Amino acid sequence: MSPQDAVHSARRAAAPWAASTFEERAQRCRALAAALVEDRRAGLDALRADVGRSDADSLLTELATLPGYVAGAIQVAKAALAPERVPLSMLDFPGKKAVIEAVPRGVVAAITPWNYPVLQIVKPVIPALLAGNSVVLKPSPYAPHAAAWFWRVAAGVLGEGVIVRVEGGAEVGDALIDLVDAVVFTGSVATGRRVAMRCAERLIPCSVELGGKDAAIVLADCDLPRTLAGIAFAAFHNAGQDCASIERVIVVDAVADDLVKGLAAAAGRLRLVTDGVGEVPPMQNDAVAAVVRRHVTEAIADGAVLVGGNVPTDRRIPAIVLDRCRPGMAVVDEETFGPVVAVIRVRDADAAVEMANASRFGLNGSVWTKDIPAGEALARRLHVGIALVNNHGFPGVVPQIPWTGTGDTGTGVAASRHAYATFVRRRTIVVDRNSDPDLFWFPGNADLDDVAERVARLQLGHYSVVFGLLMAVRRRIAAIRSWVTGPN
Ligand code: NAD
Repeated sequence: MSPQDAVHSARRAAAPWAASTFEERAQRCRALAAALVEDRRAGLDALRADVGRSDADSLLTELATLPGYVAGAIQVAKAALAPERVPLSMLDFPGKKAVIEAVPRGVVAAITPWNYPVLQIVKPVIPALLAGNSVVLKPSPYAPHAAAWFWRVAAGVLGEGVIVRVEGGAEVGDALIDLVDAVVFTGSVATGRRVAMRCAERLIPCSVELGGKDAAIVLADCDLPRTLAGIAFAAFHNAGQDCASIERVIVVDAVADDLVKGLAAAAGRLRLVTDGVGEVPPMQNDAVAAVVRRHVTEAIADGAVLVGGNVPTDRRIPAIVLDRCRPGMAVVDEETFGPVVAVIRVRDADAAVEMANASRFGLNGSVWTKDIPAGEALARRLHVGIALVNNHGFPGVVPQIPWTGTGDTGTGVAASRHAYATFVRRRTIVVDRNSDPDLFWFPGNADLDDVAERVARLQLGHYSVVFGLLMAVRRRIAAIRSWVTGPN
């Protein structure tokens, strides 16, 4: 289907979908989540073809928890979309009522990446639907199977046109942006920047969620076994092909040797997924594998020490730990998007924060310590969208938490009530039940001067003016009435 036909079809479906009640839309989204879980066997086959993880991993990461995710997203949407009464002062705005409402944008384009092919669709599509939009979904051409499966199940539950899928790459994405009313984009920095510029030209809202180079700060008083387990998971899950993967481990000297030894051992215990069994899937495509190989070989040539894994040669890349990395190496400065941890040793916690913030990205950042108040204070100094103590990355599946970042991670907000600026415009309904004219209406006269002066004094707390003000207001209203009817 062409982008034009896709948007046309979504536009036809948009009006009846927007006219349905919130509860009806919520019910359909609940039914969609349930249908996806029911049909999980087909979904897992599609995910295996797209990303090569084990079925148990994909089930837990992308499918099993969908009903819970959608239930949370519905609660969030209810609050974000509820009409908001504006408290207006009776003195300044007598008889007036204002209510801010949420109006769907119309047709939203969801342009998604390949790394978590189902989750990256669910996250923008569910709130867009709950807000009353129809959606044109343009998934990554690298992960066509899961998107096709999602769309087939969705079409069965939602009916024709509420979600329309278009296949294709850059040219299709480009064309879509010229046709829709809002864009939610998740992907690389280079593409996100281009998408944001095209949306700016069209003056349509756009949310861009881009890359990351997340840091974990490890302090001497951490619970080392738990820290190792947590960092190994957040760094190597999905072969590090996660925008919030831990790519830099910044460790204070006092615990650096133990951490490096433990992390290398953990990496060594991880198995490459073979015949659906194992923890680290192969890299999803040759382009990402090539970046990983370049980062690792350049870092080693530049003095980094390979302590876990081995130098990658193809797309099956084992978990890799590089010790003694430093800024200036691509593996420290650029997004690697692979199962590679760059360990940077620093003197103390202050130096660790400085090092963590010396990045053009800022998605998640974590501090690992047993001293929770100190960890929290340190986490607040991280220039990131989500600052954690003793964990990393999991807020990506919490529908109430704004998934957002700083710098090249982009300005987008996925999930939470803060995401709704993309999905709805705000319209304010104002009703005036005041039977008297407003005091500031024409004409200008001495009574207006009098009222203005007394209002100013009242605002400053001079309550003695109240009686005089009431008299002045009466005179002023009479003056406006006689001015507007004119001399008999
Ligand atoms: P990508 O930018 O190559 O592609 C993303 C999507 O954009 C795909 O659907 C692609 O076909 C489409 N696209 C490409 N050119 C386009 C254009 N000119 N106009 C419109 N659409 C276009 O990204 P990718 O390789 O699929 O994903 C990996 C990247 O995504 C990594 O950088 C990762 O960090 C990032 N990512 C970020 C988040 C987040 O929440 N911040 C989540 C997942 C992935």
